[in-house]
Formats: sequence, structure tokens, C-alpha cells
Amino acid sequence: MALPSKGRLREPSWALLEASGVAPQEPSERVLQSHCRNADIDLLFVRADDVPEYVQDGVVDCGITGLDLIEERQCGVEVLLRLGFGYCSLTAAVLQEDPANSLEDLAGRRIATSHPGLVSRAFAARGLSADIVTVSGSVEISPRLGLADAVVDLVSTGSTLRSNGLRAIGVVFESEAVLIGRTGTSDKEAAQTLITVLGSVVNARESRYLLCNVPASRLEELVALLPTTGSPSIMQLASTELVSVHAVVPAADIWSLLPQLERCGASSILTLSIERMVR
Ligand code: AMP
Repeated sequence: MALPSKGRLREPSWALLEASGVAPQEPSERVLQSHCRNADIDLLFVRADDVPEYVQDGVVDCGITGLDLIEERQCGVEVLLRLGFGYCSLTAAVLQEDPANSLEDLAGRRIATSHPGLVSRAFAARGLSADIVTVSGSVEISPRLGLADAVVDLVSTGSTLRSNGLRAIGVVFESEAVLIGRTGTSDKEAAQTLITVLGSVVNARESRYLLCNVPASRLEELVALLPTTGSPSIMQLASTELVSVHAVVPAADIWSLLPQLERCGASSILTLSIERMVR
């Protein structure tokens, strides 16, 4: 498996392997190759940029990289699993004073990007032509230098755009970190094992185990509030009129759910992290 050796995807990729119980044996910055502690997986540490080619060419069987890099290179690889980190969007932006307000307004103008393939295809799909200027770093500075009228660059918080006097006008592509394998790989079983092992941690991170007590008379009302596709477990408490409700809910919904549960008469509300979850 190829893992990002540096950059934004390195730490979260290593943390995912660690949480999955298959961390590298020698997690030092300088090591380029290693073996997993508890699993028979050889690890190769390379730039996130190079992972798609390594997988396509069969140097490794799978790897972790950004979805944007796969789309850019159009490699013979397939996405095995979305990993729930490395979120960013390839966003078009112009100088604050520029009149453009949408991608359509960039037709025929010069656009600086480090994703020329992806951007040309995205513009062509909208029936727009654009003059692409390929730059490999510091894309945001291009309009100030007169190199381009606009940029299309990866953005997560938008602070880099703002600090360079740029205004976002449209999203070209949404990206996140992914586990990839070679298209039509012969070792489907090994791929499935990795999908299950890493996927169990990804699913668990996105979910919380919720417990609360509620008067039996309001149980139906409370269950209807739960944003869960599965059926919650209901347990009778030993000494009261209350019942205990257990359910797995999306972590992102917890903040809005808690006050609703309280209003519904719930008490002793607990939310717990989940280590692994296989659906
Ligand atoms: P690296 O150049 O090694 O730091 O990795 C860049 C990859 O990290 C990109 O191709 C994206 O998939 C991902 N990424 C996530 N957030 C951002 C961001 N704000 N800016 C650039 N890349 C990001």
C-alpha cells in the first residue's frame, strides 16, 4: 500500500492506519518503506501526487491519495473507499475588484491552476472555453502577478484565498482522501479486507452511540426524532417508569438532536464514541 509521505494527507492517513490496528512498524519521518505491525501489508511512503501512478502501474496494489489527484490524472484506478478526511474543494476565485460572479463569467479568460486536466474538462462539460495557465504552486498569487485573470485552486477554509485578496465564485470539484486500487484488480479478497478494516473506522468516526432514558409514554415520539436508519434498542429500566433507548446516530446531528431529546422528556442522555462499526 502506498501512503502519503508528507503534506496534508500524511498525518490523517497514518492516524487511520493506527486506529485500524495496522500501523507502520517504524513510524519515523525518514523511513520510505515499512511493514504493518499486525498485518501482512508492505507500506511504501511516497508523495500523494505520485500515488495514482504507483497504483495504476502495479508498483503497489492500493494507496491513499486525494480524489482531485485521481481526477486530474485520469489513471486506471478505482476508488475503493472514501476516507472522511482531506476534504477540500477545487474553487474558482477572482480578485475582489473583478466583475466575474460565476464560472460562466470566466469563459475565454486566463485561469491559473495546478489541476489543468480537471479544470479543462469541467469547463468543457459546461460548454465553456478557458485559457488554462498551469502552475505548480502558489496559485493564489497569479492574478496579482498578471499571470491570469482567475485561479482554480484547492480550498478548505477559504482563508488563503481571502488573505490573497481573492473572492470565490464557484466550485469546480469536491475532493476528499480516498483508498484506491487498480481498475479490475485480481486480488478482490485483499481489497475487500482493507475496505472492511479501514471502513469500520471511517464509519465509526462519523457516528456516535446515543443512550437516554425516556418515560414509556413518550417513547414513540422520541424514536421518531432519531436520525437513524436502523432500529433503536429499547430496554426496560429496573425500578422506574422509564425505558432506556440505545441508537447509533450521525455525529454531525448530535448538536441539533440533544435539545429535541430534552424537550421530549429524555434524561441521562449519553453520547459515546465508537471504535469500529461494520454496517
Ligand atoms: P500535499 O500537496 O501533499 O499537501 O497534498 C495535497 C492534497 O491534499 C490535495 O491533492 C488534496 O487532495 C488534499 N487537500 C486537502 N485540503 C487541502 C487544501 N486546503 N489545500 C490543498 N490540498 C488539500
